[in-house]
Amino acid sequence: MKKLALHWQILIGMVLGILAGYVFSRFAWGSNFVVAWIKPWGTIFINLLKLIAIPLIVASLIKGVSDLDDIRQLSRLGTRTLGLYILSTLLAVSLGLIVVNLAQPGSFIEEGTRTDLMASFGVNAEQSVGKAAENQNKGPLSALVDVVPDNVIGAAASNGNMLQVIFFVVFFGIGLILIPTDKSEPVKRFFDGVNEVVLKMIDLIMLAAPYGVFALLAALVVESPSPDVFKALAAYALTVLFGLAVLVFAFYPTLIRLFTGISYGDFFRGIAPAQLLAFSTSSSAATLPVTMERVEEHIGVEKEVVSFVCPVGATINMDGTSLYQAVAAVFIAQAFGNDLTLGQQLTIVLTATLASIGSAAVPGAGILMLVIVLESIGVNPAGIALIFAVDRPLDMCRTVVNITSDATVAILVGKSLGKLTGPKVKEWDDHLVE
Ligand code: ASP
Repeated sequence: MKKLALHWQILIGMVLGILAGYVFSRFAWGSNFVVAWIKPWGTIFINLLKLIAIPLIVASLIKGVSDLDDIRQLSRLGTRTLGLYILSTLLAVSLGLIVVNLAQPGSFIEEGTRTDLMASFGVNAEQSVGKAAENQNKGPLSALVDVVPDNVIGAAASNGNMLQVIFFVVFFGIGLILIPTDKSEPVKRFFDGVNEVVLKMIDLIMLAAPYGVFALLAALVVESPSPDVFKALAAYALTVLFGLAVLVFAFYPTLIRLFTGISYGDFFRGIAPAQLLAFSTSSSAATLPVTMERVEEHIGVEKEVVSFVCPVGATINMDGTSLYQAVAAVFIAQAFGNDLTLGQQLTIVLTATLASIGSAAVPGAGILMLVIVLESIGVNPAGIALIFAVDRPLDMCRTVVNITSDATVAILVGKSLGKLTGPKVKEWDDHLVE
């Protein structure tokens, strides 16, 4: 019997998970049952993915950087990557501003609804404002200081410090390029071997993906807030979703098609499992190992590019988040009866770009950083209370965009450096039995 492709299996897991969540939430005991007996499997699945991320980055990046023959190549890779990341984020924010100005979702909010929503979510808003304020009390060079760790084990051990690990590993790789070949060769071969092992481990973890996403989505459904509030926010949510859909279904695949000739179908077949996982986990960081595996093995971008571009992207490149922040900021301003000036909208372009760079690649990070965007344009940050209720589903969708954008930039940079070779293995299942 022919096995179903992995992305179909994951999709079935998602649908069954949502259905199971609804069925269980109908029974008095159902929600507790899901939380106690089903959700932990989803947590184990996410833990496995996170577990593999640091070994994968270390092994593949050391090998990748040392495969570049000289530092010049590395700096070309670095500047192209950063350039494309910033450009794509700016475009995403601008698209967000255009759709929200056209759709005007804030005008759907009635005075009464707004007061009710503010009252019922007020507590949460204050908590988030507190957390986000921590981000602000830092000096102008703190972002730079944060990249250089004083202890590499500490950097690897503290979640969210991916840039520090990347800094150390790239530095190590540069050292490796500069020593004699007879000394560097065994080190490279060792890390190459480790990298193969880690990729195989990801294959094995992905066998559990359909069950993992089943558990995650069932738990999400039984724990989510009442659907009533969703109605008032539908216009806002649809605006965000429309913008995100333009990016995922039109912008990225068209760019890829134009610059690399890879077809729409091949692009999506290549990265669909990573996208579905991003949707289920709401975390670019947790999805990273799969994003890297898909771009390298299934789209055929060489390791030295993937191992740099994807981890950096998971940390700093969040097109979905920045588009969402632009829409949300304008929506909240509209809801408060605030018509933003052109100057304020341009400020959003800048702050949403920076805020998305600063957002951690974990669920719910984007809404915390939104506070900074709101403050920069003088809108009361407590306004995020308005959009809390619908944030989780939007987070799931913007994470899909975030990782698709990372993959797109990896493919484009790979192409521009002559390091796009085409898929090594077409079928996931072949890869498993290999
Ligand atoms: N969850 C998003 C990510 O991990 C970040 C966010 O927008 O909250 O990419």
